[in-house]
Amino acid sequence: MSKRECGPCTLCCKLLAVQELQKPVGKYCKHAKFGCGCQIYADRPPTCQSFECLWVADDEAIPVKFHPSVYKFFFYMTKNQDGVILYCDYNFELKPELKQYLRHINKHLGVIFVKGSQRTYNPPGTL
Ligand code: SF4
Ligand code: SF4
Repeated sequence: MSKRECGPCTLCCKLLAVQELQKPVGKYCKHAKFGCGCQIYADRPPTCQSFECLWVADDEAIPVKFHPSVYKFFFYMTKNQDGVILYCDYNFELKPELKQYLRHINKHLGVIFVKGSQRTYNPPGTL
């Protein structure tokens, strides 16, 4: 079980939609306090309660240095587990150490970049 916690990170509170709050993709949730985290943590909606990015959920697979608030993206698995999605903020940059890590992943898995309404799929072995 992963020992990581979100702490003050709120990147998914911006990049993902939360239906219960009618919060759209790409807009900060009104309950997120930058640098502090969720202000209604105990009462957050089910969508939020059931979500963990891979940085939090899998501390063995995802290097600690790829923290979402530092690299401006977070990892998530596709539903059928055949690919990794990177949800990217507007100021995301594909830095060399991340590209190297993604090439390693991409040997066996698809890699999908999602930035706003743009979605770019890289099949296995193409990065
Ligand atoms: S992006 Fe990951 S680390 Fe950041 S708040 Fe969401 S689940 Fe937590
Ligand atoms: S309710 Fe809390 S956890 Fe959910 S999106 Fe808003 S700030 Fe994030």
